[in-house]
Amino acid sequence: MKNKLYKTLFLGISATVVASASYALISPKDTVVSSNSNPSTIALAQPLSSTDIVNAPTVEQAIQPELVSITHKIKSGDSLSSIFSKLNLNHSDLHSITHTNKLGKQFATISVGKNLFFITDTKGKLQQLSYKKNQLDTLKALRTDNGFEIEMVSKMTEKRIVNAQTTINTSLFQDGKEAGLSDKLIMQLAEIFAWDIDFALSLRKGDQFTVVYEKILLEDKVINTGNIISAEFINRGHSFVAVKFEDSIGNISYFTPEGKSMRKAFLRSPVDFARISSRFNLKRKHPVLNRIRAHKGVDYAARTGTPIKSTGDGRIVYRGRKGGYGRVVIVKHGQKYSTLYAHLSSYRKGQKTGSRIKQGQVIGYVGRSGLATGSHLHYEFRVNGAHRNPLTVKLPHAKPIKSSLLAAFKVQTQPLVEQLNKVKARTLLARNQ
Ligand SMILES: [Zn+2]
Repeated sequence: MKNKLYKTLFLGISATVVASASYALISPKDTVVSSNSNPSTIALAQPLSSTDIVNAPTVEQAIQPELVSITHKIKSGDSLSSIFSKLNLNHSDLHSITHTNKLGKQFATISVGKNLFFITDTKGKLQQLSYKKNQLDTLKALRTDNGFEIEMVSKMTEKRIVNAQTTINTSLFQDGKEAGLSDKLIMQLAEIFAWDIDFALSLRKGDQFTVVYEKILLEDKVINTGNIISAEFINRGHSFVAVKFEDSIGNISYFTPEGKSMRKAFLRSPVDFARISSRFNLKRKHPVLNRIRAHKGVDYAARTGTPIKSTGDGRIVYRGRKGGYGRVVIVKHGQKYSTLYAHLSSYRKGQKTGSRIKQGQVIGYVGRSGLATGSHLHYEFRVNGAHRNPLTVKLPHAKPIKSSLLAAFKVQTQPLVEQLNKVKARTLLARNQ
């Protein structure tokens, strides 16, 4: 919300400045100064009254022609070409700007609602064109003696490390907001711990979290939140700690301070937003056969066609029809584990027996093939060939930090753990005082 607020605030300001296409005469000197700042504010920042323009001519200005600034707010249906026509600008200038280099081409991807800022001489010859792509980047084309020079002027942001700590009273979202966290950060926090804490079912009043994270600032104003650096979540007296680790190619993932992955090797459920219609039960009366027959999996009632995800990385070892199971996919995950998905309406195209599958990858779609009373997924989880309850089986961690990276991991994450501990100690001290 905070981000949105800042964005709204920001957009609000620029919209006021350029509510309509504004024309103003400015001197060449002003142009040079203003090329480092928000271009759309030039006209208002240093307005020249008509008397200035009439009374001001100097020798210098007589030699160097006056410049005219034009701000154009891009409307739906506008193209650079139509805008050039409307403003009576030379189309060969447009061509040379967009064909100078790769950067120049970016002028062709202008978006509705943003502003183009033109500077021409009094004869209407284009001298400069700017387009503010976003809060940080402005694309500029400047006339030189040899055509146009294109550059991207970027403002520098600053990262600041901050922290928050709170006790759950109502919900993660509500209490997170009250602790000053953005929606994005709360989502990030929930994602990191989602493998250990079921935020819908097992969050309790009195649970606590501490989070150390980055704030992104532009000119001393927060414009975004960055990554979570470290966090602790205490759920029902059980402490879970996560630290950020960035590998050599910039991938960010979260581990325990010992280097175990925060992720598990298996997703708890192979379908999203489905209702459990039958649980693992070794003494269940079969709804179709009407006699006691063990139910060695979990049923998820879901509409026909709902995508089914492989709960772990692995390889398809069976894909085909199998008696009462109907259409079935079996995925083997290493030596120890396998998962089975039954009653499918269809299989995912492009896969076959032997295909390698990633965790979360779709392997088929919910249906009612085989012995089934309604559209649902029957899901089984086997450990060393034995059926286990998919809802309660202890899921193994995803791969830990590679042993070759462990030293680098410790160097990178040790300070993050210390920082987290400092924050906790400070809060504890404040509470006891
Ligand atoms: Zn079943």
